[in-house]
Amino acid sequence: MMDSPLIAKETISLVVPFFNEAACIGTFFEEVMPVLERIENAECEIVCVNDGSTDTTLEQLVEATRVYPRVKVVDLSRNFGKEAAMTAGIDAAIGDAVIPFDADLQDPPEAIPDLVSKWREGFDVVIARRSERQTDTYAKRGTAAMFYRVHNAISDIKIPENAGDFRLMSRQAVEALKQLPENRRFMKGLFAWIGFKTASIEYARKPRVAGKTKFSGWKLWNFAMEGITSFSTLPLRVWTYLGGLTAVFALIYAAYLIVKTTVHGVDVPGYASTITAVLFLGGVQLIGIGVIGEYVGRMYVETKRRPVYIVRKVYQQDAPQ
Ligand code: UDP
Ligand code: MG
Repeated sequence: MMDSPLIAKETISLVVPFFNEAACIGTFFEEVMPVLERIENAECEIVCVNDGSTDTTLEQLVEATRVYPRVKVVDLSRNFGKEAAMTAGIDAAIGDAVIPFDADLQDPPEAIPDLVSKWREGFDVVIARRSERQTDTYAKRGTAAMFYRVHNAISDIKIPENAGDFRLMSRQAVEALKQLPENRRFMKGLFAWIGFKTASIEYARKPRVAGKTKFSGWKLWNFAMEGITSFSTLPLRVWTYLGGLTAVFALIYAAYLIVKTTVHGVDVPGYASTITAVLFLGGVQLIGIGVIGEYVGRMYVETKRRPVYIVRKVYQQDAPQ
């Protein structure tokens, strides 16, 4: 390659979590490597995080470090989940720009040079937005849209809609992200929290090249709960108002009953209204306790101050001089 000696090369890190992606790895390197090589004036590294895979993912990744000198493999001690795996990769990345990327090539590698050129225009964060997500099921698109609506309505930090984790962050933005101490890491929210000068590009999200999604309906529901409880306390505070309203209503009703009893005497029947009120209030109280439980649970986990992930081993070819 012809490089001008006057221009210092920038390093770009691709951070890729792998959880049982054996079927994707071959295609992954075949498609990503040529794209990275085409980026001018840049050295690229790929930080692959093995998130406790039980198939041949680790063996294949270690093999890749022998073939490609710029591939680093961070092997975690077990499956910590995508958010933790990404955090491990971002911590290990040394690039001037860091790009989280999925192993299944749902994010097209061809968009990477576009992210880089926007960054070179002077933006600290470049978000890749999905212009269309036809490849996701109807149910997933619908529930995702609902999640963004609810989340953004009740929390101060707005998450850009239709943006996944695929984005570019400058070194400065990455250092800011690393300062956030929380243990349960809802990355989309943390990415948004740090702020910085942000631009976005559009791309079409593709189907997985192989294998199947690691996020079932239940896992996605929990993920959404995680997002909302990480960035909003409205679900906690709303009980104050609901309780207040119920109390006011109860007082008015009591006053009505007193007047009615004084005027018309004692009225014995009333089982239906009593049981309805008891059951309804009982239900409302249980929901309230459940919501408090969500937050107390988070506090419990955070106070233990456990690390976000544990690295078992790092595999890397010695940098050729
Ligand atoms: N992933 C991970 N740990 C997990 C689940 C997923 O590292 O516990 C990785 C997975 O290997 C992939 C990325 O996260 O690189 C996105 O996962 P997936 O494609 O299953 O999610 P989807 O695109 O369906 O939302
Ligand atoms: Mg995927």
